[in-house]
Amino acid sequence: MIDRPAAIVLLVDDDEPKRYAVAKTLRRAGYTVHEAGTGSEALRRVATRPDLVILDVKLPDMDGFDVCRRIKSDPATCTIPVLHISSTFVDIEDKVQGLESGADGYLTNVAEPLELLATVRALLRARRAEDAAQLSTRQWQTTFDTISDGVLLLDGQGRVVQVNRTLERILGRSWSDLVGQDLPSLLGGLPASEPPLFEQMIESGTRESRDVHRGDSWLRISIDPIRDAESAIKGGLCLVSDITSQKRLEMQLLRQAQRLQEDDRRKDEFLAMLAHELRNPLASLSNALEIIGQLHDRSDEVTEAIPIARRQIQHMGRLLEDLLDVSRITRGKVELRKQMVDFGTIVAHAIETCQPLVDSHGHELSAAIPADPIPLDGDPTRLEQIVANLVNNAAKYTEPGGRIAVSLVREGNQAVLRVRDTGIGISPEMQRRIFDLFVQADRSLDRSQGGLGIGLTLVRSLVELHGGTIAVQSDGVGQGSEFLVRLPMPSESTPLAEPDRSSTVTVAPAHLRILLVDDNRDCIRTMTKLLELHGHQVWSAGDGPTALEVASTSALDVVLLDIGLPGMDGYQVAQWLRQHWGPEQLTLIAVSGYGGDEVRRRTILAGFDHHLVKPVGLSELERILAVHPRRREATG
Ligand code: ADP
Repeated sequence: MIDRPAAIVLLVDDDEPKRYAVAKTLRRAGYTVHEAGTGSEALRRVATRPDLVILDVKLPDMDGFDVCRRIKSDPATCTIPVLHISSTFVDIEDKVQGLESGADGYLTNVAEPLELLATVRALLRARRAEDAAQLSTRQWQTTFDTISDGVLLLDGQGRVVQVNRTLERILGRSWSDLVGQDLPSLLGGLPASEPPLFEQMIESGTRESRDVHRGDSWLRISIDPIRDAESAIKGGLCLVSDITSQKRLEMQLLRQAQRLQEDDRRKDEFLAMLAHELRNPLASLSNALEIIGQLHDRSDEVTEAIPIARRQIQHMGRLLEDLLDVSRITRGKVELRKQMVDFGTIVAHAIETCQPLVDSHGHELSAAIPADPIPLDGDPTRLEQIVANLVNNAAKYTEPGGRIAVSLVREGNQAVLRVRDTGIGISPEMQRRIFDLFVQADRSLDRSQGGLGIGLTLVRSLVELHGGTIAVQSDGVGQGSEFLVRLPMPSESTPLAEPDRSSTVTVAPAHLRILLVDDNRDCIRTMTKLLELHGHQVWSAGDGPTALEVASTSALDVVLLDIGLPGMDGYQVAQWLRQHWGPEQLTLIAVSGYGGDEVRRRTILAGFDHHLVKPVGLSELERILAVHPRRREATG
């Protein structure tokens, strides 16, 4: 078999008969043979890059060894194998000199075709193997260089063995500058990494990464261990990527997120403030309405208008309370006043309060509540709020004449409440978002049921504050809905709290001497009128010093004191009053826009006996006034 028959052999010999004979042997074997008779002609023809040069050592114009040296020293031809030939007997030194000049083989007996062809084939094979090795090295280097990340190979001591072009570009340093360095000096100019990255990789045996800031740019450096056949770490493969644009984007997103958070916080604060500020005018409106309601000589139109106005004021009050609640919840400021309660009683009471709305829609409501108590450790007001919200929604979002079913069961150590309706239903997409803030299925302005889309957010938050879960299920629009609340029951049974009977206290007839202190004139005016209509004697003051003056000159039973007064605040006024009159002589009632535990603690410390949250309802106030010592004396 002939190796690469198309291979080109340049045969250089001045001895024509010998050249002819050798060329003939080669051509017969399938090689293409180019011939040259002198050294200079050989150097000219070698520029066409034959696959092999057969070179006689004795040439007329120059030494064959010299020709060989020049072929081997030219980068363009250095890889072409050279076979020295000599027809005469040469001593060993000639052979040595030939090989020293770079020749790849030496043959004396060219007349022997078998030996000649075997030598030529061997040299061409070696050349091809070398070409292939060079090609794969070149391909490897090209691939290595085109990797878009900087790559460097490290030996077992963390010294650089190889780098690619991208790394040279990223670091602005050349290959020779980088190879042989260790990682810290290679990354010179970058903040030192503590602990050193390479050592850290050796220690962990896994990939280690760092992001480092370098001038205006950011680099991510990560090293993976390179292991030998026995899995021992013998170096590292280090990737250096320019992540500047990614970092810029991240920082931009971070700034945007911070801005959004800030906007969100301001919105929450604004909602809280708005709801808080709207309470005062609402309280005045409510009181004014009460006064009108007490007039004897009012027209039929006014009599008809009163319940409408009362309903709307109550509705507005509920919206404000929800707004305040939701802003408290989003700011994590809701505190539960937990005690042992019977959830069955709470559910029954919540249904009772919703009954008017249910009836007004002509719905039929059925409730299945077990006779045995379902004890929960919870805040009774908040638990009732949860149930009432769900039942109210069921009533609102069901066409007139629908059915609502409320059931409460005990499942293991959970209380499970179901509120089901035959109403408008909820689409699957909506079910996923329904508990999110401000989400409403119908956002049209003329939607008939009003609302702010915060009820269910509140319900979920309150359920979760009690350690429970809530879920919604509906087969889709028009298919009705079911809300399922699960609340954990306490493991050991603590006695249930006595129900609050204060709401059943009847108002005694005796009048009290009351001082109202508030900087809101409308509040003062309407509350004064109301209290007077209930037979009390009322004084008023718009600020702290006036209040102290009135208190020093008049015999008083009760002071109703707004906390947020200009100048001297309600706490200071209370402290001064307490220094002069004890609790048996003077009842101090704080009136504040805030009802948190912290505020209540402060008012008690300042000497107050009671704390009311604005807007103060007359019935709430009357409950306190009814048990005043002077009235007990009067009724007793
Ligand atoms: P609001 O009732 O003030 O809109 P909610 O948070 O209580 O706020 O309810 C959010 C939305 O969920 C409602 O607007 C309504 O689209 C939908 N939804 C709530 N309860 C029901 C229900 N029982 N049936 C159908 N849709 C309901």
